Order: sequence, then structure tokens, then C-alpha cells
Amino acid sequence: MSHGCTECTHIKRFRSDLIAEGAILGEDAEVAGIVNEPVLSDIDDPVASQLETPQQQDSPPDGFPRGYICLAVMDGKNIPHQKCALHICERPLVNYRNGRFCEVHLDLAEKCGIVSCGRPVREVGALTCDNQTYIEWYKQYRNRFTRLSFPGVQRVIRRQQERGDANSSGPILRVELNPLGDLPGNEVVHTFKAGSTYCLQTIQWACGHPIGWARSEVFFIQVLSIINRIWADHPEAKPGFIAYDDACSLLRHIVTQDSRDPWLQSTKFVVDAWHYIGHLATDALCRLWCNPQPTNGSKPDLVRVEVDINGTAHQTRAFNTETAEHNYDLFIHALMMLYAERVEKRVQEKNLGLTDEFWAEALGHDEGSEIQ
Ligand SMILES: [Zn+2]
Ligand SMILES: [Zn+2]
Ligand SMILES: [Zn+2]
Ligand SMILES: [Zn+2]
Repeated sequence: MSHGCTECTHIKRFRSDLIAEGAILGEDAEVAGIVNEPVLSDIDDPVASQLETPQQQDSPPDGFPRGYICLAVMDGKNIPHQKCALHICERPLVNYRNGRFCEVHLDLAEKCGIVSCGRPVREVGALTCDNQTYIEWYKQYRNRFTRLSFPGVQRVIRRQQERGDANSSGPILRVELNPLGDLPGNEVVHTFKAGSTYCLQTIQWACGHPIGWARSEVFFIQVLSIINRIWADHPEAKPGFIAYDDACSLLRHIVTQDSRDPWLQSTKFVVDAWHYIGHLATDALCRLWCNPQPTNGSKPDLVRVEVDINGTAHQTRAFNTETAEHNYDLFIHALMMLYAERVEKRVQEKNLGLTDEFWAEALGHDEGSEIQ
């Protein structure tokens, strides 16, 4: 928690600074450095209305030092990984070839795969009980997965794009499943298949200096518990800003849990500019709180004023977060190097190295050859 440098830590700025620097303040929901003309529809959002409008002091308080702010960047990467089929369980599989459960939940193989049912399977090896509805549902579930041909995949992706529910940058493939009773197909909790991915969350200062990491499912409850844990012993060191792909969902989760959560006082959660522009029209919370560089003077810490050769003042972003965002590969590389070092050490300690005799036998060289 003791790190600080000029790329992640800036002297606190105020609205009066922007004005003194000649900034022409823009409309609500405009993003500095990006040409956008936001269309602001009315959105009825009970969660957004629990938060007051963001407040920013106009000028530095008299007789006090200015203070400083830090920006942290959080990032989640999906890592393919097999785990117990029970949705709430994170343990590894007992059998990675065709198993579905961890050691603790092995006996669930004898229970109906529709978790809310709880009755025994109809015969050994079956995945559901004898309820005909469940048998049919499982059949269509299995067919959707095994018959997912390439054109089939393309069709699903196209349909998702047409409906506009691909709210992340790349196409997401979610297989469409029949509803079970009143429950939409993708909300049916079942154990038909081993669980498959988790998310590696990393958090760094804007300069790229690592703060912490954790694995999580993509549920915000876990992201919140990660940042709670990281700053548990240093609440005073919480960053003024956290930039995160899905900051608005995280913020929504925090407000819904506890509208007086200390995070709401200490930190502003911001998304990236493209997310912001895309989310403006439909998400009031994102619009009001998550703008990464508003031109209206509401987050002077995130905005710099630059004067071009014609003498015109432009607002631009104050933090460059690219280093932090691109650091992931470096982390993995460093991790692998450390691990390699550890393995090498073990090889030496236990005398497991390959000997000259080994090489002579393996490659058929005579003694005294270049192998030594
Ligand atoms: Zn730094
Ligand atoms: Zn389990
Ligand atoms: Zn059942
Ligand atoms: Zn958003």
C-alpha cells in the first residue's frame, strides 16, 4: 500500500482549476477527448436515485493542503478451468475425463441434475429423476451442446447481435435453452456439466504497479469482497478512483447491498470511454457516476486542460491507464519465470539434473565430445 508515483498519484484538482486553465465546460455525460453528442433519455432507476448527484468541491478549502488522489485499475480475465458442477462450489473435479463433481459432492451424481428437485436419479448413470419434464429439458440441453456446429454457432452469435445483448466487446455465445416452467432456460440451476471458467481479477495502480489479485466468478459480490479484502487493513489508502470494465455493475451491487457503504464515500468507480458512451442511453447509474473523463467539471481529477497551437483549450484525460491494462501478459510472464526458478532450485537440491552420462546415452556422443 506504500507505492506512489506521478503516473498513479496526482495532486487533488478542483473545478476552479479547470476554469483557471481555460476549460470550456461541456454538457452532462460528455466524455473528454471523444466527440459525442449524448442523447439523454429519462430512465427510471431506483438504484441511481438512492445516490445523490456527484459532488465536487469548487475550489481548494482555505487553509488546508490540497491533498492527493490515486487511480487504480481493475481488470478481469477469464481462465478456462474445470470445477465441480454445483454452481456454488469451487472445488476441483475428482475425475477430469468425464466427471462432474468434486470429492465433497460426488454423491450428487445420484441426485436429479435439476438442483431444485433433489429426488434420486431414475437409474444409475441417468442425469435426472423420472419427471418427464426434466427428462425432456435435459434432452434438449444435451442436443444444443452436442449439435453446436460452426454455422450453428454463427447463427447464435448473429441473433445475439441483432438483439443487441452482446454488451461486451466481442461476441458472446450463450446457448439458448427452453424455459423450464416459468424459469428462463439460462436460469435453470443444474449439474449436467462440470463448471468451466473462473475469472482472474487483478488490481493495479494506474502506472501498472500491482496491488492485488484474486480469482472469482464474474459475480459482483465477489469483486466487492476482493476490494474489501485488499483495503481491509488500509482503508485510508483506498483509491479515489477505480477504473473497471464493469464498474457500473459493481457500483450498482454496492448501492443495492448498502447505500451507506464506505466505498461510496471514498471512491468513484469509472468505466472506459467506449463502455460509457454505449451505456449512456440505458443506464442512469452509469451515466451519472461512471464517466471516465466528464467535460462538465464534475471530476476535475480525471481531466487535464491542453492548449493547442491555435490557442484553443481542450480537455483531455489526466491518467493514462494503458500500462496497467496491458500488464497482464507481463504478470503471467513474471510468474512463469519465478516458477521456473523454483523448479530449477528443486532440480539442483534433489540432484535431478541431466548428467553427461544421460546425454551420452541419449545422443550417442563419445566421451569428450562437444556436449560437455
Ligand atoms: Zn504508480
Ligand atoms: Zn463440489
Ligand atoms: Zn428431478
Ligand atoms: Zn455501464
